[in-house]
Amino acid sequence: MTIDQFNFAGKKAFVRVDFNVPLDENFNITDDTRMRAALPTLKKILADGGSIIIGSHLGRPKGVAEKFSLKHIKKHLEELLGVEVQFANDCMGEEAAVKAAALQPGEVLLLENLRFYAEEEGKPRGLAEDATDEEKKAAKAAVKESQKEFTKKLASYADCYVNDAFGTAHRAHASTALIAKYFDKDNKMFGYLMEKEVKAVDKVLNDIQRPFTAIMGGSKVSSKIEIIENLLNKVDNLIIAGGMTYTFMKAQGGKVGLSICEEDKLDLALDLLKKAEEKGVKLVLAVDSKVADSFSNDANTQFVPSNDIPDGWEGLDIGPKTMEMFAEVIKGSKTILWNGPTGVFEFDNFTQGSRAVGEAIVEATKNGAFSLVGGGDSVACVNKFGLASGVSYVSTGGGALLEAIEGKVLPGIAAINE
Ligand code: AMP
Repeated sequence: MTIDQFNFAGKKAFVRVDFNVPLDENFNITDDTRMRAALPTLKKILADGGSIIIGSHLGRPKGVAEKFSLKHIKKHLEELLGVEVQFANDCMGEEAAVKAAALQPGEVLLLENLRFYAEEEGKPRGLAEDATDEEKKAAKAAVKESQKEFTKKLASYADCYVNDAFGTAHRAHASTALIAKYFDKDNKMFGYLMEKEVKAVDKVLNDIQRPFTAIMGGSKVSSKIEIIENLLNKVDNLIIAGGMTYTFMKAQGGKVGLSICEEDKLDLALDLLKKAEEKGVKLVLAVDSKVADSFSNDANTQFVPSNDIPDGWEGLDIGPKTMEMFAEVIKGSKTILWNGPTGVFEFDNFTQGSRAVGEAIVEATKNGAFSLVGGGDSVACVNKFGLASGVSYVSTGGGALLEAIEGKVLPGIAAINE
């Protein structure tokens, strides 16, 4: 079923959203992008004359914690939706069930953080550090067992299920995947956001216009290794930037000073270089770096070759020659995937590389390329530089996007399609 085909009139919809928004110390929302992203779905349901039970997580609570209460976002949700939002202090229990049952067309009920229950993720909590394997196994089995009841209860609130939480689609959690089996095919669907995300990923995976260039930045090779290996089977050009640069430099005998470098990944870096060559993929690495004499925005800086960094200095961004080189590759591309900044973009003095990459992507997009930007930090980059409207698609998913591009089946997507 698609959301456009579905008429929500008189129906109660359980909508799983990703309202995991950043809050400041006074619980003010500092970036409401994720809430806005779910509005088209929520508004369609209300306009049809349906009612909504909203389920979400916020942060990574290990149990009930005021700090992670979704009540902090209720008022803003009311402003965005233009209707009053009811709140259930517990996503289980009597109150939630009664409020859900009483919902009238056009009404909205926000459930408390689903992750206040270990059953949402299905992972045991509070295990002693020295728990034996047996104990761990028993705890896991117990939470998996109670997860069934938890999921069934959530499903019982509604007539239909809508998943609009792409950010958690790679997790087989109660509300993101398991719940779907309580609804038949005609009563479960993606929300608009999820539909858009799935389409964008599909375009990058199955409708590739070449050349296809991926720009992978960020800090560590170890966290991106799987996606990098997988991309080698898909792309024509792979630009590797950010802190990962220096593991590659060191592996090839370069001097990296104090730059971030994973000594235990040097062989892996060499292996990736070899694989790229075998597959005919152009692996592009920085030739010059903006180096600093401390990890700070106010550090002294200079530009040096990326493989000849003086002792006591560290590479915190790419240099001008590299910016030009990367831009040339990007501008010659027809499909572009960007994940991860080229430097420590949180420091204003080390944003130039990421900005240059973003600008090159915008130019390529103007010339007809399809560009997909995803992963928290690259999204923060394009927003910081005001470039979001110039790229084809900005994904709300980090891990989910990368796993989808790796070709993995995302449980949240599979559960709707099954
Ligand atoms: P990731 O979460 O792996 O995508 O990494 C993003 C982080 O990588 C950002 O916080 C950047 O500050 C950091 N980063 C990028 N380039 C460097 C670098 N050259 N040295 C240290 N950290 C970096």
